[in-house]
Amino acid sequence: MQLILPPQNMIIQLDPHITAADKAAIEARIQELKYKATEVKTQRAHYLVAIGKADVDLRAIGQLPGILDIHRVSDDYKLVSRKWRVRPTVLDLGDGVRIGEGSLTLAAGPCSIESEKQMELIMQHLVDNDVRIMRGGVFKPRSSPYAFRGLGMEGLKDFHRMARERGIKIVTEVMQVSQVEEMHDYVDVFQVGARNTQNFNLLDALGGVDKPVMIKRGISGTIEELLSSAEYVFSGGNEKLILCERGIRTFETASRNTLDLNAVPILKEKTHLPVIVDPSHGIGIREYVPTMALAGVMAGADGIIYEAHEKPEEAASDGAQTLNFAESERLIRNLRKVYALRQELE
Ligand code: PEP
Ligand code: MN
Repeated sequence: MQLILPPQNMIIQLDPHITAADKAAIEARIQELKYKATEVKTQRAHYLVAIGKADVDLRAIGQLPGILDIHRVSDDYKLVSRKWRVRPTVLDLGDGVRIGEGSLTLAAGPCSIESEKQMELIMQHLVDNDVRIMRGGVFKPRSSPYAFRGLGMEGLKDFHRMARERGIKIVTEVMQVSQVEEMHDYVDVFQVGARNTQNFNLLDALGGVDKPVMIKRGISGTIEELLSSAEYVFSGGNEKLILCERGIRTFETASRNTLDLNAVPILKEKTHLPVIVDPSHGIGIREYVPTMALAGVMAGADGIIYEAHEKPEEAASDGAQTLNFAESERLIRNLRKVYALRQELE
């Protein structure tokens, strides 16, 4: 009987100034062990991810010249694992806007960007409440082909200009590979939507950019699959990642989706990446969005992203789950209180 051994995976962090000869020596050693090495170069560091079966004395490899650090990681996802990188990732969007442990990130805005007037009103609402990130889709993945599909690049350019004037950062969805380049200069965070979480071509393309990427959990996606999607982007060269729990499809029909708050503490344990919660898509019912947002913070989320609009009943999409300004203002106040309470309890 053949014994099947679990793969032994290693992450080797290389010295950024490693010589070609030292790198070749490390690769030769890995090959000798019959491991397959993938080289990963990101904005921050240079790694070799090595996958194989042989038992390896990590110290023996770790002593080779040119290696800063070496770790064994048995999960399928590696670079996003907290077993390897214990310190949490904190993303800096500039102008004092951070996402990650140590602060509560709030992002709000309409499901879809509709007009300059709408953006002006929403941005003023955000500025008044010291919310630094606005969400809003210009390319909308709609279940029906007849529904509003967004203002496209022209809308994004206006969104970007108006946000810059007010010190607001933008998170907006990219739906396909060809949009990555044209959107690049006009976004602060690329959003990968729930319908695209396993669009591996898109994830590969986002691995090549130096902009943060927020990946939403797939509609029927497991936590493990979400982590693997993030691993795609990271191994493609982009470490600037955020994970978003936005509800999954279950047998339950009383709410639009089932917001899986279990995912929050599980993800926080499994990965060093920031985890944020989207209660709007998670429950889909306006009256209950604040409750679930507050629960998300208590579950350990690093931030909340939700839909807000000056007149939700007239919104071009997702009005039934969108807060008006009074509801949004109250929620922001309560989120900050609950976050302070959580810190007190920690
Ligand atoms: C959205 O954020 O408006 C959206 C379409 O989200 P999701 O991909 O989670 O459905
Ligand atoms: Mn929406």
